[in-house]
Amino acid sequence: MVTTWRRETFGSRIGLVGIFDLVVFGGTGDLARRKILPALFKRFCAGQMPKPSRLIGAARTDMDTEAYRAFVRIAIKEFVDIPDGDDAALEAFLAQLEYVVLDARGDTGWATLQGMMAPDRVRAFYFSVGPGLFEDLACKLHQWNLTEDDSRIVVEKPFGRDLETAQELNAILAAHFHESQIYRIDHYLGKETVQNLMAVRFGNMLFEPLWNSQYIDHIQITVAETVGVAGRDVYYERAGAMRDMVQNHLMQLLCLIAMEPPAKFEPDAVRDEKLKVIRALDPVEPHHIVRGQYTSADGVASYREDVGNDRSKTESFMALKCHLSNWRWAGTPFYLRTGKRMEVRNSKITVVFKDAPHSIFGPEAGRHNNELTIVLQPNEGITLDVTIKEPGQGGMRLMDVPLDMSFAEALGEGSHAPDAYERLIMDVIRGNQTLFMRNDEVEAAWAWTDPLIRGWESRGDVPKPYDSFTTGPDGAAQLLRRDGREWRGLLS
Ligand code: NAD
Repeated sequence: MVTTWRRETFGSRIGLVGIFDLVVFGGTGDLARRKILPALFKRFCAGQMPKPSRLIGAARTDMDTEAYRAFVRIAIKEFVDIPDGDDAALEAFLAQLEYVVLDARGDTGWATLQGMMAPDRVRAFYFSVGPGLFEDLACKLHQWNLTEDDSRIVVEKPFGRDLETAQELNAILAAHFHESQIYRIDHYLGKETVQNLMAVRFGNMLFEPLWNSQYIDHIQITVAETVGVAGRDVYYERAGAMRDMVQNHLMQLLCLIAMEPPAKFEPDAVRDEKLKVIRALDPVEPHHIVRGQYTSADGVASYREDVGNDRSKTESFMALKCHLSNWRWAGTPFYLRTGKRMEVRNSKITVVFKDAPHSIFGPEAGRHNNELTIVLQPNEGITLDVTIKEPGQGGMRLMDVPLDMSFAEALGEGSHAPDAYERLIMDVIRGNQTLFMRNDEVEAAWAWTDPLIRGWESRGDVPKPYDSFTTGPDGAAQLLRRDGREWRGLLS
């Protein structure tokens, strides 16, 4: 049965954190344990899970509510820093948890879940299971009449593995839910700094007039991880860095940095602008694509050992030079790079402004330019490098100093920036889709990605080896050096 969508009934609960039931399908899985449950506990502590709101874990694992509470207690203690002996909040949170043994593919548990549903509260269903179960869950939710017009579903990546599969998935979900009920999560968008990037761009007069190819030399986006693929090897070997990171996380960051100002900070206004960015992306020339694969070092296995395939052609590193064909960005390259087993874990965007047109200080003062760096992890914050006179005697020597807009500095010790899942789960409850990907965005991103993947597959390209715990293959550095540029350091 397909629910008829009525917009007017939805509007009434937008923006509020009222009473809700959050059903987590896959409530015993890794994502639930590490991210969803700790995030909800922190929001509970912040007073955003008013009684009688509930989290209902639903999974195949055979246990009762008491056992589930014990399972969640252990998870929270592992992933949330709770002062010793201060368990009252945790116990109060656990009292709002229930569990149902349920099979997405069979009939087990659905009648029980139906009996647990309560009226007059927001219902959110988190699909924290493999994408192979999305269709089953969507169908069962309707078969058992569990959703109302303003119920929401949350789906995790991977959202398809190419345009065709993404379209299929979108069609499956659209058969049961209106687009405004579907929350495709990309946790990068929930990061405080990513939203701060929009505040910096659109809340200050200072930056926006300079935010174009006339003043910006180039933009770098880096997402570097130190971990390898062990534990996710089967999925990763089929995906690679392009599908796992570039098509979603890096693309979303690119959209936010490059988009036109939306008329309002509202879901569709923001997502319309992001979509225009993706559609303005040019195809990437093969010589502007660098793919790499980590080799063993310091006692850790190589990529090929990790995935058990000594002829694997899947990339664990990728660097790209992209261009946007629009008025704002014509001529400004965007360099994207992401990799596993890199030197350090670091995600950041660097906006490199052009040099001043003429140096009045002479050649000995050196060339200096402004850089805006937005760090997403490990320490979220924004810095702007400005040029000043080096203090002291000895003439006019220039140096760059950072103006630091990190949260700890600005908000004081003990300030708590909610983590991405905290914010995004509460946005689901509030009914705010601004930070979630729309169907057409996902499809446009695949439409740009697919030909690049097909290109290297048809050429039989093999990724270049790189030493683990470095900055990736030499080709990545050359990609910028050819243009007279350098990657900004991962360590700084
Ligand atoms: P997992 O394998 O650890 O957990 C899967 C969960 O689904 C378990 O609770 C299991 O009981 C349940 N399940 C499996 N088959 C079921 C069925 N037939 N009926 C009902 N429940 C069933 O997986 P995970 O790592 O938690 O990942 C869940 C989803 O989130 C996947 O789509 C994954 O790609 C995505 N994701 C995970 C992470 C992460 O950090 N773990 C990050 C991003 C995205």
